[in-house]
Amino acid sequence: MSALNQAIEHELRDAISSRSDELVALASELVKRPSTLGEEESAQRIVEDRLRDSGFSIARVQPDTAAALSDPTAGYPPLSYDGRTSVVGVREGSGGGRSLHLSGHIDVVPVDRTEDWRFEPWAGAIADGRLWGRGAGDMKGGLAAYLVAVAAISDVCGDRLRGDLIFSSVIEEECGGNGMWSVLRAGYQAAATLIGESTGMRLGHAGVGVVWARLTARGEVGHAESSGRYGPFDALAEAIGALRALEAAINAKVDDRVFADAAAWPYAMTVGRVSGGVWASSAPGELVANVRFGFGREYLPADVQARIREAVAQAAPTVEVTFEGFRAAAYCHGTVGELSHALSVAHESVLGSEVRPVAFTATTDARFVLGPCYCYGPLAGNMHGVDEWVDISSLQETAAVIALVAADWAM
Ligand SMILES: [Zn+2]
Repeated sequence: MSALNQAIEHELRDAISSRSDELVALASELVKRPSTLGEEESAQRIVEDRLRDSGFSIARVQPDTAAALSDPTAGYPPLSYDGRTSVVGVREGSGGGRSLHLSGHIDVVPVDRTEDWRFEPWAGAIADGRLWGRGAGDMKGGLAAYLVAVAAISDVCGDRLRGDLIFSSVIEEECGGNGMWSVLRAGYQAAATLIGESTGMRLGHAGVGVVWARLTARGEVGHAESSGRYGPFDALAEAIGALRALEAAINAKVDDRVFADAAAWPYAMTVGRVSGGVWASSAPGELVANVRFGFGREYLPADVQARIREAVAQAAPTVEVTFEGFRAAAYCHGTVGELSHALSVAHESVLGSEVRPVAFTATTDARFVLGPCYCYGPLAGNMHGVDEWVDISSLQETAAVIALVAADWAM
């Protein structure tokens, strides 16, 4: 380590090793709380208790709906914030040191195809060196690793920490980001920020822009005998076809090396959800398609919204376009600086190899952070899919790296 002496490094590594069972149990316990949108509180209480045990003073941060709506890069609030908050813990340093914000999101996406899962999605099963379940990789494993890291730091470094540690467990990362957005807006900002998303122990420094659009096609409800030729589905199909063409245009020539190097088709459009209708022989009154649209740094979310609106208006003027969830700008944090240096040194010390940078073709809460900010966390697979998992040894490694970085940074 640079500033960290070897004795402290060994003590921290030992403290993490002695908490290895605790780390797996904590990650599993978090998976057992199905913290989908609106159901975050039960899992948040676990995080709050842990932070309190590690000497953090706790605050809760509730997003302001009106303020979010009027900020062009905040999310559209998906539902009421009554009883729904992010947990923020602060452990004040003795003064004169650098502050560090460690963060993760508590929300998880819903389960699809439960019958196809090898392990029950909310059981937190442990097998084959992995923790299985919805949220194991995205991102309760990383959150648990970061919690164990700060517990170890509290034990080992205690009063020797000069900089403040901030820890946040935020809501709504999966649908707009208003959890992190409101935590930062409430003043919980530090000189550097790390987010425990599963990066496979790589330095996640960039993410594409994302907007969500809701396409609604309406028709007259009635018997199928008199509703041939063209209906709401056909209108919807034309609208989706127009958006596919827009997607192809945006991906045709990607000049931005950050995302061109990340994937051959970095800006993906997904029709994630389709709903409506009640009966095959009844013309539907309304069909809805929920679309996720990716884009690069050359656009603002509002630009992409305008292009989506325009494309649908031309191809299928009867289809209504509204926006919900994300209006996330693409972001890219530079990979050179004090934080990346501290992380590289700690990573090399724990894993014996160089840390590699990675750009995501998705978004993360890192887009809201103005100072240096990276995602760094365990190895995981099948995120948002069937049989989501996180690798247990990489959880231990994440906890060790984060403990070393935080101690180096804040002591
Ligand atoms: Zn995530």
